[in-house]
Amino acid sequence: MSTLADNISVIAHRIDSAARAAGRDPASVQLLAVSKTKPASAIREAHAAGLCHMGENYLQEALTKQQALSDLPLIWHFIGPIQSNKTKPIAEHFDWVHSVDRQKIAQRLSEQRPAALPPLNICLQVNVSGEASKSGCSPAELPALAQAVNALPGLRLRGLMAIPEPTEDRAEQEAAFATLRELQAQLGLDLDTLSMGMSHDLEAAIAQGATWVRIGTALFGARDYGQA
Ligand SMILES: *Cc1c(COP(=O)(O)O)cnc(C)c1O
Repeated sequence: MSTLADNISVIAHRIDSAARAAGRDPASVQLLAVSKTKPASAIREAHAAGLCHMGENYLQEALTKQQALSDLPLIWHFIGPIQSNKTKPIAEHFDWVHSVDRQKIAQRLSEQRPAALPPLNICLQVNVSGEASKSGCSPAELPALAQAVNALPGLRLRGLMAIPEPTEDRAEQEAAFATLRELQAQLGLDLDTLSMGMSHDLEAAIAQGATWVRIGTALFGARDYGQA
């Protein structure tokens, strides 16, 4: 069985090689550890091994773990679907949200962001896989959404996020990530973030400009959803 430290070094090596192959500085790609379904103890171990950015999908689970880990200087990213009645705790307890896909959610996050905290870092989630996926705004909706979010005082629009349909075909992986990169360039805004690439496709994402790769399984092992 591999340990978390072994997994981190394998991922670091994959990121490093992919960045070099793309002629990019490996330091331009950051690792977001996706800790959904994993216990607080696993996050504590990840922090001890040098990771500080944690991604969570389920609000209640995340809040419980944040409380158990409040002694650690972790940076929390919300990456799951957002219900409009859950925006307040997200605005209060996270540093980043990668999964904003409609204006109503952005508006609420901005209004509910505590004034004592810096603006919440935002990525807009875009559906780059057409009908195969239901999360994310459509490419056609993106420009208006980006303009609106860019104007909200409690938010800082950083870039785009996508979860393409899983495929083992490298060319198809890259095509989806290239679409996100091009959509971002077409916005003409000053954005510095592309959140794309997971355990199985981080190389393709880095080849197409990813600045965050969101890695769960390859760090923490397979997820057990219990009865879910
Ligand atoms: C679960 C999840 C990940 C991590 O996926 P792995 O394949 O386990 O690396 C990344 N991003 C989002 C939005 C997720 O929900």
